[in-house]
Amino acid sequence: MSQAAADIAARLLAGETAAGARAIRWLDDRDPRGSEVLSAIYPHTGRIHVVGVTGPPGAGKSTMTDMLVAEWRARGRTVAVIAVDPSSPFTGGAILGDRVRMARHALDPGVFIRSLGTRGQAGGLSRSTHDAALVFDAMGFDVVIVETVGVGQDEIDVVNLAHTTVIAVVPGLGDEIQAVKAGLMEAGDVFVVNKADREGYEAAHRQMEMMLHLRALALPDAAWPVPLLRAVALTGQGGAEIIDAIEGHRAWLEEAGEFARRGALRAREQVAALLHEELRARALALTGDDIVAAVAARRLDPHTAARQIAASLTERNHPA
Ligand code: GDP
Repeated sequence: MSQAAADIAARLLAGETAAGARAIRWLDDRDPRGSEVLSAIYPHTGRIHVVGVTGPPGAGKSTMTDMLVAEWRARGRTVAVIAVDPSSPFTGGAILGDRVRMARHALDPGVFIRSLGTRGQAGGLSRSTHDAALVFDAMGFDVVIVETVGVGQDEIDVVNLAHTTVIAVVPGLGDEIQAVKAGLMEAGDVFVVNKADREGYEAAHRQMEMMLHLRALALPDAAWPVPLLRAVALTGQGGAEIIDAIEGHRAWLEEAGEFARRGALRAREQVAALLHEELRARALALTGDDIVAAVAARRLDPHTAARQIAASLTERNHPA
């Protein structure tokens, strides 16, 4: 391992913010020192509680995240936040990104906020999120909140990374609630109807109640009683109840053996995703453009091409 990587690993294990930020930047940039840091810190991970906060745009996710951070801090817990912005190709080195609302936590060493863009790569977002969560874990943070808009496969992958997923909806977003139903209904562990101060709250609450009832029918074996909570994130109302529900869910996960099971699933997904990336890059580098050109020229079909490339990879690693 390079001296620079060893140094950053040691400093981030001691909880130093700047070292954590550096490691995350290396990992995002695919700088080899990022992987070196990761292998040094990995044995010190596995304790952090990964909490996803998702829902349609405008549901109040970032307002709610801010409220949850304040509530957890009041309970003496340290919190990292990964704010995923799928509309942005940039991964913000800036600690605050564009989340001005979070500014009140900026000087609190018990809070680390980081925004991540998609960088235009399929799967890139979940890889960056996984890696950042590992860094926060090694730094000793108790909780990491991953805040993301609940649309698109990449975001659903991010949700799948969480131990506990909080889904926020608001009154007056009929269609978006349908979208939540399609993609995320089964992934939610805690549901919150936010903006309870707004007209239409009762109707939105009833609609969610009905959907949770249908979900319970569809998933008769689900043992966790999914709570439906109300919040006015803007004023902090409902924050304590949401934290209680999230912590209750964590306790349930531990008791039911689900914490370890979800961790194992995540490990498997992570290795598979990295393997996919690595093998693809290696195979394409080995075969060069010839096979691809043959497919373009209709001399070879894509299925056979892929099989040939995969076979050449094995042959090279195990010469006869
Ligand atoms: P996001 O897109 O889901 O992250 O939503 P934001 O947190 O940016 O909130 C969208 C808008 O709703 C902002 O103008 C917030 O101030 C406002 N908002 C958030 N929570 C509440 C609430 O509980 N009540 C009301 N009336 N407005 C809220």
